[in-house]
Amino acid sequence: MTATLIDGKAFAAGLRERIADEVKALKDRGITPGLAVVLVGEDPASQVYVRSKGKQTVQVGMNSYEHKLSADISQDELLTLIERLNADPAVNGILVQLPLPSHMDEAAVINAIDPDKDVDGFHIQNVGRLATGQNAMVPCTPLGCLMLLRDQLGDLSGKSAVVLGRSNIVGKPMAQLLLRDSATVTIAHSRTVDLPQLCQQADILVAAVGRANFVKADWVKPGATVIDVGINRTDDGLVGDVDFAAAAQVAGAITPVPGGVGPMTIACLLANTLTATARANGLPDPE
Ligand code: NDP
Repeated sequence: MTATLIDGKAFAAGLRERIADEVKALKDRGITPGLAVVLVGEDPASQVYVRSKGKQTVQVGMNSYEHKLSADISQDELLTLIERLNADPAVNGILVQLPLPSHMDEAAVINAIDPDKDVDGFHIQNVGRLATGQNAMVPCTPLGCLMLLRDQLGDLSGKSAVVLGRSNIVGKPMAQLLLRDSATVTIAHSRTVDLPQLCQQADILVAAVGRANFVKADWVKPGATVIDVGINRTDDGLVGDVDFAAAAQVAGAITPVPGGVGPMTIACLLANTLTATARANGLPDPE
């Protein structure tokens, strides 16, 4: 392997330590950040995510409030809970674990969260704030990717970036963040013509497609920085969207799966909860 391995696991651990220090300082002022996580139904993957979110929240010294609701509750009941959490001063961040059961309107539920407590950054106001360069809550996975990119490359200004995927939770906000850092950004998707040729132009290649080993080594520009967001379960275990072993011979730096982007997501959720707490108390945003 010639590429530098971007160690998201180590970076996330360092980030959590910095967050724990900030939480300690807040507690000295009588403020304890609180994160409420709402899980509707018993989707096994969601249960795993919610459990690790709760655990890491407590580990950095924040209060964790878990609300587990049965899959057949009505949307109105869920909205009533969100209203209660919006009004609760002990709750600084609210996360509703997706996906929701099919009888619910996801957008209506997400948009019922107080945008200042929307630590997932999915509320329409936060999407708009990010797109217009205003103070926003930024979605956790792309925020984590941005931190790794800045750490690896420093200034992203003028770099050519290709984002594979245009979902609301990864691809689009990733593109917005890269644009905010003055990269020249192209968003690709399933209708894009000649993906290999497009990717070969990229100094920064972010893959968020959801297909195992989709990005081939000869799509990667020599020396490029490759961020692999994909999490795909295969017979060989968890793999990313990039054909890692081969791409690592060409790239300048690359994230592994697991141990790359994955651990950054929850660390950024905690970072967002800290930011929301600071803002709610009229304090400057944490570094
Ligand atoms: P979505 O399924 O919502 O979006 C996938 C995107 O990939 C779509 O925009 C789709 O295009 C595009 N795509 C699909 N097939 C192709 C193709 N053949 N060629 C080009 N583009 C294609 O996925 P998410 O954005 O939610 O997630 C992407 C991956 O990231 C998944 O593996 C997911 O598990 C992982 N993930 C990881 C997280 C983490 O914490 N590390 C967090 C969130 C997601 P189109 O819009 O045209 O259909």
